[in-house]
Amino acid sequence: MDCLFCKIVAGEIPASKVYEDEQILAFLDISQATPGHTLVIPKEHYRNIFDLDPQVAQALFGQVPGLARRLKQALGAEGINVINNSEEVAGQTVFHTHIHLLPRFGQEDGLDIRFQTQEPDFEHLAQLAQKIRETTEEV
Ligand code: 5GP
Ligand code: ZN
Repeated sequence: MDCLFCKIVAGEIPASKVYEDEQILAFLDISQATPGHTLVIPKEHYRNIFDLDPQVAQALFGQVPGLARRLKQALGAEGINVINNSEEVAGQTVFHTHIHLLPRFGQEDGLDIRFQTQEPDFEHLAQLAQKIRETTEEV
């Protein structure tokens, strides 16, 4: 399969690895949105969060707290953003699922991820929550 991250797993393309086990690989993102910007991937190919096997997800997400602590300690980060982009509309450009770990060093570290704040509409929230609860997941 013509997949960039599968090639990194296979060792066909070099990467600066920070963690590896049987199922999981973590390596530095080539673009370094903040210093230490790391990608965590399952070695097995999944497109994104929508087709990710729950047990593989457990192994993948299970590595995140430890890696976050390591990045914090090694780089002197104050905090971290943990992000998954799934599908183009969400900003996914490499279609082998991955988690971005973005160490944060202060307001001026070059990254700005803020959610828009708006007046809460509790009626709307209740309707939305009901709709989601009643939706049967298709797997
Ligand atoms: P996405 O936009 O799909 O969430 O993230 C893909 C990420 O992969 C981008 O942040 C991009 O910088 C990174 N990337 C693309 N090509 C390479 C590569 O060859 N090596 C590494 N280490 N990262 C890459
Ligand atoms: Zn792949």
